[in-house]
Amino acid sequence: MRTNYVYDFADGDMDMKDLLGGKGANLAEMTRLGLPVPPGFTITTEACRFYLERGTTPPELDAEVDLHLRRVEQAIGRRLGDPGDPLLVSVRSGGRFSMPGMMETVLDIGLTDVTVAGLAAHGGERFAWDCYRRLISMYGSTVTGIPGTEFEGALEALRRERGVATDPELSAADLRELVGAYKKIFHAHTGTDFPQDPAEQLRDAVLAVFRSWNTERARVYRNAEHIPDDLGTAVNVMAMVYGNRGTRCGTGVAFTRDPATGARGVYGDYLPNAQGEDVVAGIRDALPLQELERLDGACYARLVEIMGVLERRYRDLCDIEFTIEDGRLWMLQTRVGKRTAAAAFIIAAQLVDEGVIDLDQALRRVDGAALAQLMFPRFDLEGAPEPIATGVAASPGAASGRAVFDSHRAVEAAGRGEPVILVRRETNPDDLPGMLAARGILTSRGGKTSHAAVVARGMGRTCVCGAAELDVDTAGGLLRSGPVTVREGDMISVDGITGKVYLGELPVTPSPVVRYFEGDLDAAAGPLVHAVSRLVAHADATRRLDVQANADTPEDAARARGFGAAGVGLCRTEHMFLGERRVLVERLILAESEEEVAAALAELLPLQREDFTGILAAMDGLPVTIRLIDPPLHEFLPPLEELLAASTDRDRALLAAVRRMHESNPMLGLRGVRLGLAVPGLFAMQVRAIGEAAAARVREGGDPRPEIMVPLVGDVRELALVRAEAERVLAGIPGAPPIPVGTMIEVPRAALTAGDIAAEAEFFSFGTNDLTQMAWGLSRDDAESSFLPQYLRLGVFATSPFESIDERGVGRLVELAVQEGRAARPGLRVGVCGEHGGDPASIHFFHRAGLDYVSCSPYRLPVARLEAGRAALPPAG
Ligand code: PEP
Ligand code: MG
Repeated sequence: MRTNYVYDFADGDMDMKDLLGGKGANLAEMTRLGLPVPPGFTITTEACRFYLERGTTPPELDAEVDLHLRRVEQAIGRRLGDPGDPLLVSVRSGGRFSMPGMMETVLDIGLTDVTVAGLAAHGGERFAWDCYRRLISMYGSTVTGIPGTEFEGALEALRRERGVATDPELSAADLRELVGAYKKIFHAHTGTDFPQDPAEQLRDAVLAVFRSWNTERARVYRNAEHIPDDLGTAVNVMAMVYGNRGTRCGTGVAFTRDPATGARGVYGDYLPNAQGEDVVAGIRDALPLQELERLDGACYARLVEIMGVLERRYRDLCDIEFTIEDGRLWMLQTRVGKRTAAAAFIIAAQLVDEGVIDLDQALRRVDGAALAQLMFPRFDLEGAPEPIATGVAASPGAASGRAVFDSHRAVEAAGRGEPVILVRRETNPDDLPGMLAARGILTSRGGKTSHAAVVARGMGRTCVCGAAELDVDTAGGLLRSGPVTVREGDMISVDGITGKVYLGELPVTPSPVVRYFEGDLDAAAGPLVHAVSRLVAHADATRRLDVQANADTPEDAARARGFGAAGVGLCRTEHMFLGERRVLVERLILAESEEEVAAALAELLPLQREDFTGILAAMDGLPVTIRLIDPPLHEFLPPLEELLAASTDRDRALLAAVRRMHESNPMLGLRGVRLGLAVPGLFAMQVRAIGEAAAARVREGGDPRPEIMVPLVGDVRELALVRAEAERVLAGIPGAPPIPVGTMIEVPRAALTAGDIAAEAEFFSFGTNDLTQMAWGLSRDDAESSFLPQYLRLGVFATSPFESIDERGVGRLVELAVQEGRAARPGLRVGVCGEHGGDPASIHFFHRAGLDYVSCSPYRLPVARLEAGRAALPPAG
């Protein structure tokens, strides 16, 4: 019979999780499948919400519960409160989403001073008194809020008095005495006797479970897991079966496959003569589940058979709780089991091989976050020391090496074959050689989109940044963290997954998945690599978005190709002005005449041509989007502190230049297209280098496909000026292929005037790092290490807007620009090259917004391919 607030297990199914909670829906499903589930019923989440909103239960609830209780009594042939052979029931919580251990359970409801004798007559004195004392303590703490420690204290005192170490050594008389002590505790706290009416016990336990939805720990858990607060919990009432009634009884947990590796087989634990809570509490060591075959072959065979039934029904790994009572198997719970990232891939692929699910379903069951986890080397943390600091986990991985506080010395040390961790207060483009040479990068300032973080992710280097506890003294060649001092050359370890920093060297294991993408292992190398290759291939076949790479060097471009890039979506050109070329930039800045400017640019030209030739060769046949120089020129000058002690004329001139070019907000200053227009000839030199490199590649028989991208455009006139000049320059290069000119959309005004800008742009690429920074008015270099953590705690941000695109704000700018850009120029190609291009949630957004491609750092490519595929899957049917 269908009722409003209570459903018999026989009346529900696995799709009713909203109403019956996960546990209730799965119990109903098992009942429907004819599996041995003790009779019972579920009180709906709706009843819980009613109670939490109004402080009273729905008027029909008591009658409905009574009705369903009678059905349970009939099914099992025992009555609640029957002095001769009492029915006992369990009351358990179970919301829509699993919240393990966060809410309440009360077992053995129905025991009173009278019924305890009836239970003893069927199960023995010791068993009956043991159940009664469990009820009083669980009811006492759950329903009336008596601290659990009071009951534990009484139990411990009794054990001491009897001189025994464990509960099973206590006799029936001991437990009877303990019940007396528990009742006194109950009376002392509540001023009333322990209730002797089983119906009252049941009603109160149900209400206590409802209320447990709102305990502090449950709220904290939901907040952390992003579970809505207004769902409420269902309550499952089930006839008790006893795993603790003798040696032919027991209780256990089982997995249909190994949740750590995905290997097929029988996995789990079994504890003879015990109740479920004993397994969880680890009171005794459980036996491996295989032992059950020896102890009770029939139950074991039935369990294995049921595991097969559940796997076929759920088409997935299931975990199970069961009890055996006098040789009879009972199923108490099942659900789709949690698993490690590796097992998620392996199981999904196995189920495809077994014909249980199709590839689309398999792709739904894995995600980019799991794949990303599998791509990092990891520390083996067993026996690891306490961390000395924690910062922002900016680029994942695990790296140990000698702390080096200077980029040049890092290069030297790496050249001697030493493992290096480059430690800086913050990094700047000048640190690039040291960053490349280092295994890991550690800074005490900056967030996830700081220079160190962006560059490190691009290079696949482990990076922890913004570790504010660290006092980094680069001049002194040391860092301090509380009492710990690390000097140059000392070994340290940085964990880019957790953001933790350790003293000393920790052992690491490389990722087989990366070795596969690098061509070092083939797809048959093992079940994990096989599964990943298969699911990424299916994602490739499914996705609409192209996936390109952010790559600045031929080496990065070559690696990106191996990782499946369909081109370079962003080649930043700024690092090409570093190293020995800095002298030329300084000459450019110090130039006092047009001739001097032209001379400096003329020297840069062949160097740039060489840069572009290399990257075009590595990406032959695929697009390479080269962005003209973006950061302010003074970033290439020595730091002010170094110049203050200026001794030469040149230093003094540089010092004057640094002072002259100082800006209060350099991020909003003379950079990108503004710099290109302010320094005549600079962009033209880059365009010429691109054109000449392409022409040279064509002569060599290559297929170069460069594109020119203009940064920081806010108005169409800026772009029109640069484009006209670029076309003039390119027209004068014999043999150059056609080279499209497009723009970044990274200034909010550009997004808002995208229709105008499209008239001059052959493509758009969203620079969502700057777009986020400028739309929010939030410094990308500082926010994450200053107030952002507080904002996350306060719930202003669910995730950092620099990590996952802010759909409501920045996302609207993106959508608007796509629409107006394409309205003005039908077929306009649109992509994204900010860090969001490699973020799973953002990729789904870019798919929906109709972008043509995402571009991300090479190591992120497999994740982006997988998520772009997932984004294009049809809705699950
Ligand atoms: C961006 O702003 O998103 C971008 C890709 O450019 P950069 O990170 O180099 O400023
Ligand atoms: Mg930018």
